[in-house]
Amino acid sequence: AETLNIDQIRADFPVLHQQVNKAPLIYFDNAATTQKPKAVIDALSAYYEQDNANIHRGIHTLAERATTAYELTRKKLAAFLNAPSTDQIIFTSGTTAGINLVAQTFGRANVGKGDQIIVSNLEHHSNIVPWQMIAEEKGAEIKVIPVSDAGVLDIEAYKALLNPKVKLVAVNHVSNAIGTINPIVEIISLAHEVGAKVLIDGAQSVAHLAVDVQALDMDFFVFSAHKLFGPTGVGVLYGKRDLLESMPPYQGGGEMIKEVSFSGTTYNELPYKFEAGTPNIADVIAFGAALDYVQAIPSEALAAQEEALLAYATQKLQAIPGLRIVGTAPDKIAVISFVIDGVHPQDIGVLLDKFGIAIRTGHHCAQPLMQRYELVGTCRASFAFYNTFEEIDRFVLCLEKTLQMLG
Ligand code: PMP
Repeated sequence: AETLNIDQIRADFPVLHQQVNKAPLIYFDNAATTQKPKAVIDALSAYYEQDNANIHRGIHTLAERATTAYELTRKKLAAFLNAPSTDQIIFTSGTTAGINLVAQTFGRANVGKGDQIIVSNLEHHSNIVPWQMIAEEKGAEIKVIPVSDAGVLDIEAYKALLNPKVKLVAVNHVSNAIGTINPIVEIISLAHEVGAKVLIDGAQSVAHLAVDVQALDMDFFVFSAHKLFGPTGVGVLYGKRDLLESMPPYQGGGEMIKEVSFSGTTYNELPYKFEAGTPNIADVIAFGAALDYVQAIPSEALAAQEEALLAYATQKLQAIPGLRIVGTAPDKIAVISFVIDGVHPQDIGVLLDKFGIAIRTGHHCAQPLMQRYELVGTCRASFAFYNTFEEIDRFVLCLEKTLQMLG
């Protein structure tokens, strides 16, 4: 099988080549945000140096160039997700914005008093709080799919929660806190049996798993560009056409209208109905460069590299006395959350930084999951295809030194 040329790949990511606290940077915080290849950084400056203009209404050359490039990213995304049309790709500012959009439009129109919304115990706060807000406003209830000690959702309990009062099920494809890959095919089809729609939070899946929104029968799928080697400030909402068409607009303003008068306003067609105001043109265009970049890497080789990193790091970490991996689902991405007896996760993170190693510590915006496991937080190492086995060796060595320092 094909393997990746990691040195060549690493050469594409300028940020990786630096010393942090007098040691070569080891970036193991890819679940928080991924690094950007030079192609993305170049696309950003090329846009501002050559094409910067407002889009859609301009008739001059720069406006046309900017519009074409912006809309090209939408086309690339439709292909990337296998969406039936580009109109169903809506640009947002991120996963959080996409979930709030669906909560405030689909939720506001379809969730009533006594209805139910199901989330899981594995969710990021951004897939909990927007639902709590609309549930509170409407007098609806939030129900929670429980999670096992290993970090696997309890599908039997989920089945028991489903009933015709459930209007929406909101779960992540992959857990950011512990890496579990959730059985979304089953989650979606079970929801559809009771007439509920499903929002899948793909923030942690898009960089690791192929997503075909039609094959998966997705109602709504949301993610952030910055977790897929693209810029911050851009997100994507995919929705089924009939749902998006029936939903009221979210924010009002320019671009989202057809005609405005004081006697009444008509709204624009998809996708513009949901894109009020000047969007993040530059970053959307640069995100197109990120999509080209990742799609040029053979996906089997990419997955093999990440799987090998996960297996290697898991085995090495397990050998450390007192270390416990939190989240041992059989299906998981290259994310390892762990705790160590008697040591606060934050102390580990602070000391690893002294060795130039970036990991995440804390609750990972998943406090209900931490409560479930009775933890204040974990240390989380999350890998991308540009990480190496040598980095894992040095990480484990420095972790051992850190534990000695902490006594
Ligand atoms: N959901 C999940 C599973 C995530 O990992 C994140 C980012 N940590 C979010 C939602 C929120 O994404 P953003 O902050 O880019 O809106």
